[in-house]
Order: sequence, then structure tokens, then C-alpha cells
Amino acid sequence: MISTDKAITSLDQLLTRDNLNHIANADFTVDDYQMILKEIYDESVENLTLDKNISALENIKRIAYQHVNIYFSEKEISSGYYIYNKIYLNNNLSEAQQIVTIIHELTHHIYAEIFEKWLYKLFNVREKFLVESVVMFMLNNSIENRIADEYLSYIVEGRFTPPECQNYLSFLQLLIELNINVEESKSFFIFAHEISHDIDDILKPIITDKLKQCIAKQFVVDDIDKLYQKLTFDYRDERFDEVEKVEFMQEMLYFIFDYFINGEGNINDLEHYIQGFDNSLMFVE
Ligand SMILES: [Zn+2]
Repeated sequence: MISTDKAITSLDQLLTRDNLNHIANADFTVDDYQMILKEIYDESVENLTLDKNISALENIKRIAYQHVNIYFSEKEISSGYYIYNKIYLNNNLSEAQQIVTIIHELTHHIYAEIFEKWLYKLFNVREKFLVESVVMFMLNNSIENRIADEYLSYIVEGRFTPPECQNYLSFLQLLIELNINVEESKSFFIFAHEISHDIDDILKPIITDKLKQCIAKQFVVDDIDKLYQKLTFDYRDERFDEVEKVEFMQEMLYFIFDYFINGEGNINDLEHYIQGFDNSLMFVE
């Protein structure tokens, strides 16, 4: 994959017809994607030290800190959320629930990171917040993108926490709220399922079986309800191969550039995202 030479320093320089064509014609290879995953893995383990003498929650926080900062939210409304490279966590929750929330929100971050790294491969852009803003907008812009992002985060949290305790209620509420036609949008679900495996592969060597056992113990200590919920769709056995997965990401990026260049998108709508990322640099702990 060849990135364009000219340094890009603004959204107007990033969201251009030339760059749209560049996305259309660029060779998104499986090797490139593997490299992106490897980079994220390397960032996940660089100088990471886990300690069996501290709690599972503290170890999970250390893993998250490799990528994001965690802030404690006074908002009681939710268990937590992810925005502008930061995780907000409701620390009134039990430790077990905080663990689930951190893994879930970290998955949102890693997913965004994958697309950011594609854009760094495609374009010579150093201003991180430009790339971050476009990706954040993309992942929130369509109901299919939103549900894919949520779906894969739920799958990943379930791989590292006791599945019988998983609570899909808020996911199902979102499905209804967004009025998603699951059959029509199924490619997004299949895609999300594929990506969940890739993020799983990044985290598995880090959240080891030992740490998973500690997590499971925390669920017992906190007396978390066993709900035995299952989230399965009719096409759960349908898969994308590596090439289809990479093409899907290329189409997503093409679509969002096209939306701003030929469609209804207004570049000014990205302004508040830029400010969000920009300001977030100012109060990093
Ligand atoms: Zn989520």
C-alpha cells in the first residue's frame, strides 16, 4: 500500500476527490491488515507488566492504559462509555462489572484504531486528531456502523468474562432503538464477528487463562447474576474470508470520504470531533 506523499494538515486537504480516488484504487492487502493488528498488539504489550498480586480489575486497567486513559464518571446513567480516546467508567459498579466495561470500551478503541491505521497507511497525515475525527464520525454515522461497533464489543467482552453472566439487554435495546433490519444489515454483523476474532487474538495472549480465572473469581466474589443469555443470529455460521474483510474496511472508508465529497456530508460537522480530540490532549493524566 502506497501512501500519498503530500503532507496533509487539515480536513480540507484530507477529504478531497483525489484522496477518494486513492482509497478506491489503493491495494488494501491482507498483509497490510495483519501488520496493523501486529502494531496494535505491540502497543498493547510494550512495557506492560501485569502482577498476580493485584486484583483482576487493576490488571485489566493496566492493559487498557496501554491505549487509553480511564476517567471516573459521575454520570450514573451507564456503566461507562468510550469517547475521544478515553474510557469513562462508573466506579460505583462492582469490580466485576467494571472489568466487563473496560474490556468492552477498550474494544471500541481498538476497533477505531484499526481504521486510523489504515488511513495512516493511505495518507501522509501526522495530525492524529484529523484521522481520529474522520474515523469517529464514520463509526457513528450510520446505524449499521454503530451496531457493528457495539456487536463486536459485546462479543469480545464475552470472551474474557463468564459468558453466563453476560447481559445483552442494552445491545438489544440499541437494536430496537436503531430499528435495524438484521437480515438487510447482515454483512455488518458478519464483518463485526470477524473483527471480534481479530481483537480477541490481540487480547488473548495478554488476558491469559490465568487472568481470566481471576476475572471469573471476581464474578463469584461480587455475586454477579447468571443470566444465561445468548445472542445468536441465523447467519452466525456465515463468515468473511480475509480478503472480503479487508475489502469491507476499504468500502467503509470509501463511503465516508464519498459522503463528504459527493454526498450530504459537511466537513464542518467534524469540527466538534476535532475539538474533542484536541482538548482531550490537554487533560491527560
Ligand atoms: Zn459499547
